[in-house]
Amino acid sequence: MSTTPDYPARAVVDLDAIRDNVRALRATAPTAQVMAVVKADAYGHGLAPSARAALAGGATWLGAAQSGEALAVRAAVGPGPRILTWLYAPGAPFADLVREDVDVAVAAPWALDEVADGARVVGRAARVHLKVDTGLGRNGITPQDLPAVLDRAAALQAEGALTVVGVMSHFALADEPDDPSVKMQTHVFEDTIRTVEAAGMSLEVRHIANSAATVTNPSSHYDLVRPGIAVYGLSPVPQLGAPGDFGLRPAMTLEARLATVKRVPAGHGVSYGHFYVTEQDTVLGVIPLGYGDGIPRHASGGSLGPGGPVLVGGAVDDVAAPGTGLGTARVLRIAGRVCMDQVIIDLGPYASEQAGDVVTLFGASDGLTRAGAPNAEDWARAAGTISYEIVTRLGARVPRVYVGTAGRETA
Ligand SMILES: *Cc1c(COP(=O)(O)O)cnc(C)c1O
Repeated sequence: MSTTPDYPARAVVDLDAIRDNVRALRATAPTAQVMAVVKADAYGHGLAPSARAALAGGATWLGAAQSGEALAVRAAVGPGPRILTWLYAPGAPFADLVREDVDVAVAAPWALDEVADGARVVGRAARVHLKVDTGLGRNGITPQDLPAVLDRAAALQAEGALTVVGVMSHFALADEPDDPSVKMQTHVFEDTIRTVEAAGMSLEVRHIANSAATVTNPSSHYDLVRPGIAVYGLSPVPQLGAPGDFGLRPAMTLEARLATVKRVPAGHGVSYGHFYVTEQDTVLGVIPLGYGDGIPRHASGGSLGPGGPVLVGGAVDDVAAPGTGLGTARVLRIAGRVCMDQVIIDLGPYASEQAGDVVTLFGASDGLTRAGAPNAEDWARAAGTISYEIVTRLGARVPRVYVGTAGRETA
């Protein structure tokens, strides 16, 4: 990495962490294949590099929500790995999906016929997973609709327009493994599998486990697990354990360079609305990241809340600008309102930081980042959300910079 960084802010993504997290998940679910979920630009980490790194870790499937994402995954990884898409509206590019060898999850009766139409255009059977609603109350075939869907699927399969290769579902409370709904949904899932098999379909894969179920509930692994957040090294069950407790490490570090450092007197209001007022003569630092970059406005500080945490100062690492390290390492909280492009921190009266110094909003703590950096979970707590949202919402204005080698050799 450059020692003279010219970026105002960037997200450093460690591809080796993604690879190693997938390896850890494979060890956690040794009887199942791993589908690394790379929807939403790989939870903000960047679709193509993340997908390749996940394959390097031994994922044999890649999961996308939207059909456009699935096609982008195929373009990124080439032929071979199985890809699944599960969220689309009528008129989706089913012929393209079949042509590109993307499996399609069918969650409603109408979708079966549209998928079959696409398959006829290409002249090859579509590979279909029946997505069943076992209790989540979201996307999925209800038990009431299942018999009609199976009749239609059987007819289309006999015609050669599609092959039902999988049955899938999704938990409502996978992050609370003792909740009775987990057992109830499992029961409905197994009933559904029996019904589908009794209708003459031979299933390649049965799958229901997201990250939380993968790490907490071995009986949910079946043939395939579908972890998303854990691939990126964040804990799907923060109340039960930190990433390291599951053999995971965060892949993303968000850092910025101070745009301005200036002295102000006591009693000075800070940022829109003056929800923070300096208590003493002090030094303010301006960080060039705001809600336009995905920093939650709910992470505002001062009288508005705890404020998102930022590591300032401390030892110099290989991404630091000259001058970094003069100050004492400390975690500070955002002072006042998060703006569109910037946030402000109160560096204190004795600050020695200078414009250009690197600060870390969240990161891994394994050498890539200065030790003691806050993590995405800390930001989630400060903003009243989950770590998923913190990384996924990072805006397009923040460049993703990749370190590590995983997946690059096949690029
Ligand atoms: C997003 C998603 C996943 C991955 O969920 P995580 O909680 O991030 O592991 C798995 N399956 C489906 C259907 C999803 O939508």
